[in-house]
Amino acid sequence: MMAALILDGKALAKHRESQLKSAVEALTKAGSEVPTLATILVGGDPASATYVQMKQNACQRVGMDSVKIEMPEETSTEQLLAQIEMLNKDPKICGILLQHPVPAQIDERACFDAIAIEKDVDGVTTQGFGLMSMGELAFGSATPAGIMTLLHHYDVPLAGKHAVVVGRSPILGKPMAAMLLNANATVTVCHSRTENLAALVGQADIVIGAVGQPELIKAEWIKDGAVVVDAGYHPGGIGDIDKTGLAERVMALTPVPGGVGPMTINALISQTLESARIAAQ
Ligand code: NAP
Repeated sequence: MMAALILDGKALAKHRESQLKSAVEALTKAGSEVPTLATILVGGDPASATYVQMKQNACQRVGMDSVKIEMPEETSTEQLLAQIEMLNKDPKICGILLQHPVPAQIDERACFDAIAIEKDVDGVTTQGFGLMSMGELAFGSATPAGIMTLLHHYDVPLAGKHAVVVGRSPILGKPMAAMLLNANATVTVCHSRTENLAALVGQADIVIGAVGQPELIKAEWIKDGAVVVDAGYHPGGIGDIDKTGLAERVMALTPVPGGVGPMTINALISQTLESARIAAQ
């Protein structure tokens, strides 16, 4: 078997950023305001702060503006809802990113769902999820949307294939399953109560690791010729999937880092531009 195709999210995101930069220029030349993303970070989690900064940097690289809102650890649901409401009403803001996770005292679902649907460029609202699931127009949840862009770019066949998604979180596993189903894959969704995880993963033509546990999915479970997508990221460049020996026997795989992460940010900024375009119409 040939060496696995590397699904290079870093390179694809870079290429797409150059296209986004031109598109932002074209939009502003035509008289529109510079698209602006508002980012909200609640509390001082250093990993979350880094993710928000990376998203701001990406905006800057493509010529978009971003507004950084930082709220203290002890912020209440009401205070966060009030902040989101202000951004919903602000005509300069075309996208809102609420960095997940928020501190435990906050009702995260209520806050996600308070984001106006037309500004939900990170694809976190219940309404956006429902529309996307039904195949209607909506911004997709950024990580699975980025994964779909990556799979399409590399012409990975999806129709009729068995995709096994390990994880069912609202922003990753669940929307991932819906997107793969919409692309005519046959989808199995696994979670912490799943029995025989190894056997199910062993049936997969496409494995999506979205489980949040370092290398929980073992290389030996994965069949030859599969497509392996690892959404996980843990310190030291470790993903949710153990890749031992996979490069010699699978069809394709995402590196960690440099696979799903850059595509997540790219989906967010692409959808922010799309929101600005719609607002300009
Ligand atoms: P999460 O909210 O913690 O969800 C984890 C999911 O995995 C849950 O559905 C959970 O099942 C399931 N799970 C946990 N232990 C399991 C086990 N032993 N067997 C089978 N399933 C199990 O995590 P998340 O936010 O979806 O993130 C998942 C991973 O993606 C993390 O590694 C995170 O760092 C990464 N991530 C990356 C990006 C990016 O931009 N690259 C963005 C977001 C997340 P239950 O539902 O039953 O609890």
